[in-house]
Amino acid sequence: MSAKDYVEKDYYKVLGVPKDATAAEIKKTYRKLAREFHPDANKGDAKAEERFKDISEAYDVLSDEKRRKEYDEARSLFAGGGFRPGGAGGAGGFDFGDLFNGGGGGSGGLGDVFGGLFNRGGRQTAQPRRGADVETEVTLNFEEAVDGATVPLRMTSQAACRACAGTGAKTGTTPRVCPTCVGAGTVSRGQGAFALSEPCRDCKGRGMIVDDPCTVCHGSGRASSARTMQVRIPAGVQDSQRIRLKGKGAQGERGGQPGDLYVTVHVDPHPVFGRKGDNLTVTVPVSFPEAALGGTIEVPTLNGPAVKLKLPPGSANGLTMRARGKGATRKDGTRGDLLVTVEVAVPKAVSGDALSALEQYREATASDDPRAALFKAAEGA
Ligand SMILES: [Zn+2]
Ligand SMILES: [Zn+2]
Repeated sequence: MSAKDYVEKDYYKVLGVPKDATAAEIKKTYRKLAREFHPDANKGDAKAEERFKDISEAYDVLSDEKRRKEYDEARSLFAGGGFRPGGAGGAGGFDFGDLFNGGGGGSGGLGDVFGGLFNRGGRQTAQPRRGADVETEVTLNFEEAVDGATVPLRMTSQAACRACAGTGAKTGTTPRVCPTCVGAGTVSRGQGAFALSEPCRDCKGRGMIVDDPCTVCHGSGRASSARTMQVRIPAGVQDSQRIRLKGKGAQGERGGQPGDLYVTVHVDPHPVFGRKGDNLTVTVPVSFPEAALGGTIEVPTLNGPAVKLKLPPGSANGLTMRARGKGATRKDGTRGDLLVTVEVAVPKAVSGDALSALEQYREATASDDPRAALFKAAEGA
């Protein structure tokens, strides 16, 4: 039941009694209606069930003298002030929270009426709390990133204190239910009766109070525990990628779900291979005769035997060839390709037979100007 219910619901109308009905009249009407709409008498009738709930809710409030008085006061205030949820004046989606929050000090009657009105629930118990997410980093070498790897991760995380089993109370003592929030861990703020609740300050949201704190955890009930986990990093992870491992974070409290573990992966570069998505890349030097005349070249692969590739005659510098299936492992277990880029190697110094052969080659090709086409294209433009 919320404050909004108090404003929106007309409990008198629900029971069909006048506003000045006596307690006896209310009781009598309620009994009659309850019999009529009782779920046992209306099996499978959702409407009757709904009606029965409304009747019970209305009776809960109107049969309690103090609550009925508060309810009457709340409704008369709202009726008089013209505050209506989603009300007139075009201010659709009217937010009660705004109305009562900003007021600061003397906002008067409203806060007083609602303050404390909804605190008495008592039925609520502290909610399970989800464990915190944990961030960590790991550095993989290039091969591990390509093929996936199981790596040990040493992590410190918050867990229940072993000495007190997470209660925070000294051995032999037990915590007591917080009288402020009656174990709920949250309280409705005075002026924020409209759906505003905040963690209870007296028990720090735990719902329990420890008089004699555990000497190990000083009453927090939490301890940091270091653990080493084997974590599977999937194949194909990229440098700086952040992967989420569901449920591998800190433990929850009071049966709450554990948090998640986020691992930021750093990948060491490889001296030879690079990576483009599922494909690996490698640059392979070839000699000028190999590039010009063609031939078979051997190319190294990552973690595998070298492959032979046929270099076509007249291969230009920078030509890229593909060695199928020699790339990175994909999610489905298949592999990408190895992209082989040829780079024509130019010797730093040439001497002896090689020098005379080259000089001969120069003479033989003297009439071929390699830049002829370039100039032609430049003029034509
Ligand atoms: Zn409390
Ligand atoms: Zn402890």
